[in-house]
Amino acid sequence: MSVWDNLVGQPQAVEQLRAAAASDHPHHAWLLTGPPGSGRSTAAVALAAALLCEQTDPSQRGCGQCRACRTVLKGSHADLTHFSTENLQIKIEEARELVVRAQDRPSVGRWRVIIVEDADRMPERTSNVLLKAIEEPPPHTIWLLCAPSPQDVLVTIRSRCRSLKLRVPSTEDVSELLVRRDGVEPGLAEHCAALAQGHVGVARRLALYPEARSRRESVVRMPVSLRSIAQAMAAAEKLVEIADEEAEADAAERNERERAELMAQLGMEEDQKVTPAMRAQLRHLEEDQKRRARRIKTDTLDRFLIDIQTVFRDVLTIQLGTGSALINSHLAQELSEYARENTPEKTLQRLDTVSLTRRRLSTNASARLAFEAMMTSLL
Ligand SMILES: [Zn+2]
Repeated sequence: MSVWDNLVGQPQAVEQLRAAAASDHPHHAWLLTGPPGSGRSTAAVALAAALLCEQTDPSQRGCGQCRACRTVLKGSHADLTHFSTENLQIKIEEARELVVRAQDRPSVGRWRVIIVEDADRMPERTSNVLLKAIEEPPPHTIWLLCAPSPQDVLVTIRSRCRSLKLRVPSTEDVSELLVRRDGVEPGLAEHCAALAQGHVGVARRLALYPEARSRRESVVRMPVSLRSIAQAMAAAEKLVEIADEEAEADAAERNERERAELMAQLGMEEDQKVTPAMRAQLRHLEEDQKRRARRIKTDTLDRFLIDIQTVFRDVLTIQLGTGSALINSHLAQELSEYARENTPEKTLQRLDTVSLTRRRLSTNASARLAFEAMMTSLL
């Protein structure tokens, strides 16, 4: 199995990446873009593996079998730096560290490869730090930046990168991957791929975790079953609560471990007196953890909104009689009833309301207020 096999539904991108890996002089900076879940970081990792692959025949690079390919896929190759952030923004110190890494010569492979996920999460000052390094790269360094769309990164950075656009993979492609890679039963794979609308990670989660499916179920049934203001308020509260639980569950697993790791790094014992310098480091970590929890909560809420959009899109499909397949085909009966009781104009308004809520959420508005406002206007 080659490193390209995980990149589903992207034949053109794979062709371009293969050619780059086979070349003696691949472009030194790439901008990989595509909607969330389309496989940006999978594509970046595949290209990194192929660039570092040990096959002597250039056309075979990215074999997935050699030591270089395997260590890149595991994230432990000495010449690969794979940076991703869980914070809302990449920090300037983090960008500086990457630039320093970029100066190192490769230790075992042909290239030093630096992957930066979420390159769109950089304020201008931070972007400029990276820009300098991309403008005058050391001869053996290749940058792979990932972002939702080219417009999300500074034009000065964009103009120095070779652009590679991923498309939303089709339901068939995603479903086929779930069967092949994760051993999911074909019927379930198809159902989950359709619900996830081309988001490979979401499809995988739905297919592998029954609780993820049942949670999605309760989210999508909510907006079409609202009958009173009280119900709408309760529904909003419920959704925000689930997102809080999600963020907490994640934190419980990781925060303690990170604290223990930091204390070990600083050479501290659990009961030892904490010096001001150590306290500052611990506080730093706690702030990062808080920011991460906020991001997880926001991402979860945004996912709910995307799921709710699929419901109203289905309702509109029924009302307009376009004959297109429903995304939530298992709810066809409920949605048909709802479609009969409402007009297409009303459905369009509701879709607008959900879009507006997504925008509000992304600007750090209070999630609870945004959801309450949405649910009451969906009545
Ligand atoms: Zn290989």
